[in-house]
Amino acid sequence: MMSIFINGWETNLKFSAAHFIPEHSKCRRLHGHDYAVDITLFGELENGMVADFVQIKRELRQMLEEIDHKLILPINGEGITYILDGNKYKIKYETFEMSVPKEFVYLCDVKHSSSEELARYLTGILIKKVTLGKNVKKIEFSVYEGPGQKATWEEVLG
Ligand SMILES: [Zn+2]
Repeated sequence: MMSIFINGWETNLKFSAAHFIPEHSKCRRLHGHDYAVDITLFGELENGMVADFVQIKRELRQMLEEIDHKLILPINGEGITYILDGNKYKIKYETFEMSVPKEFVYLCDVKHSSSEELARYLTGILIKKVTLGKNVKKIEFSVYEGPGQKATWEEVLG
């Protein structure tokens, strides 16, 4: 099977975001990362291509803009509570409380905002938002939390 690969660092598929992971000794503190994503699409050739690099990059960039410069809030996180109060989210975990404008928050349907869970979650968003031909049979989607370390989710398409 043929594949195409897009390197997010080199093609500007990047975002910056704040997050916290309560279960982790150091990552429980609110902090941020410069993230990048890589994508590999596997499939048969259609008109000589697996997919159009330009179109995939454009649609992925639009998708990542929704997270960029926001706080990632894991809506299923154990011990994390949040309520929308006017135009602000009031977020609590452990003894920590913060109030963040709604438009600064990215609600993420995960338990933890780890690279692993982000890779799996964002693959689901990608399938909804990025146009892929029926010839594409598998996606490998990676999330880098800074250069040199990434988590990868593999999704086989029906
Ligand atoms: Zn982190």
